[in-house]
Amino acid sequence: MTSGGRLIKLARTRQLYTGEPFHVAKETVRGGNNRSPLPVASVRQARLEAETFAKLCGGGQWWAHPFGIASVQAEAKSAVVYLDSHTTFRSGDPYPRSAHALDDLLPGAELGVQVNGIVGLRVAGIEGPDLHLTLAGGECHLILRGTAGTDWAEELDERWHRLEKAGSPPLWQEPQLTSHEETHIRDYPRVWRAHRGLDWLGSALLRRIAVFHTSSTAYSSRSWIHDDEWIFELDTVRGIKLDHDAFLSRLMDPLWGIPLRIHSQHCSCDPDHQLGHSTYTLQCTYHLAHPDTNGRGGLQLRFRHGPGAYSGGTRSTLERLGSPAKWLDRVLPKSSPDVSSSPDHERTSRSSREEGGS
Ligand SMILES: [Zn+2]
Repeated sequence: MTSGGRLIKLARTRQLYTGEPFHVAKETVRGGNNRSPLPVASVRQARLEAETFAKLCGGGQWWAHPFGIASVQAEAKSAVVYLDSHTTFRSGDPYPRSAHALDDLLPGAELGVQVNGIVGLRVAGIEGPDLHLTLAGGECHLILRGTAGTDWAEELDERWHRLEKAGSPPLWQEPQLTSHEETHIRDYPRVWRAHRGLDWLGSALLRRIAVFHTSSTAYSSRSWIHDDEWIFELDTVRGIKLDHDAFLSRLMDPLWGIPLRIHSQHCSCDPDHQLGHSTYTLQCTYHLAHPDTNGRGGLQLRFRHGPGAYSGGTRSTLERLGSPAKWLDRVLPKSSPDVSSSPDHERTSRSSREEGGS
C-alpha cells in the first residue's frame, strides 16, 4: 500500500473510534504516533473524563448520536468533547445539550453534606463555543464544545443564581476543594473507591465514543455504574442482525481498542433461533475486565435484541435531532417495526432501568 493509501486507511479507522471529521483525523494521523494512536489519559485526566462521561451517558432522552456526543479529540492531558445540539425528553420537548450537560455536571452542595454534580469540578474559562473544565488542583483539562450559538456564560449564570436561591452553594468557582466536597468523599468511601477504579475505563470509552454509532447495531444506548461495574445496555431492533462480535472486536482491537478481556459471557443469540413472540427481547451479556484485575470490576455489556424498546416514532425523533441518515438506515431502517408503529404506541419493552436513551 502506498503511504497515501495507508494514511487514508488510518484516518478512516481513527474516525470509527473518535467520530472526528475525515480531514481532522487525517491531519492527526499524519503528525501523530500511530503505534499508539489513541493516547492513554494521565490519572487526573482520566478521572475528569470518566466522571464527565458517567454524568453525560445516562438514559432518559434521545440525542443525534449515542450519549449526545458527536466526537472526541484527546491527548494525554486534555480532551475536546463535541456535544450534540439538543436532547429530547419523553415529553418530546427539545432542550439544549449544553444546558443538559451543565445540569448533570456542575457541583452544588445541598444542605447536609451531599454534593450534586462532579465533586471537585471547576470551570476554568469560556472561549466562544468552548467551556473549559478542570478539577480543583488542576493537572487536567476537558473542553465541552457546544454547537453554534451556545451561550455558556448565560447557562452558568442561570444555574448559579438558581442554586443560590435554593440555599445550595454553587462550587464550580471555588479555588480549592471545599469542605462540602471533602465531607462527601469521606462519607461515601466505598462508592468513591469503586468509581476511581473505573476512571481508566470511562476515559478510554469516552476517547472511543464513536464506536457506539459506527460499530454497534444498537439504535439505543444507555449506561450507568453499579458497584464496581460500568454497565451499558445496547438495544438492537428486531430485523437487524445483532452483531455483538463486530462491536467487541472493535472495542478490544489490539492497536486502537481498550485493554480488556472477556471474563464471562452468556450469549442468547443464535442465527437459527427465532426471536419468538414479537414482544420478546433476548439479551447477550458480556463481562469484560482489564487483564490485570482477575475479572474484578470492569465493563458489563448487555446486547439486547427485540422489538423497539420504547414507544414508536423513534426514527422521526432521531431525524429531528439531526442523527446521521446513514446511521439511521443501518440501525433503524424505515421498515423496522419501531418506525412503522404510531408515536403513541404502547411501550412494548422497558429497559431494566425503566429509562429511554439513544
Ligand atoms: Zn449473542
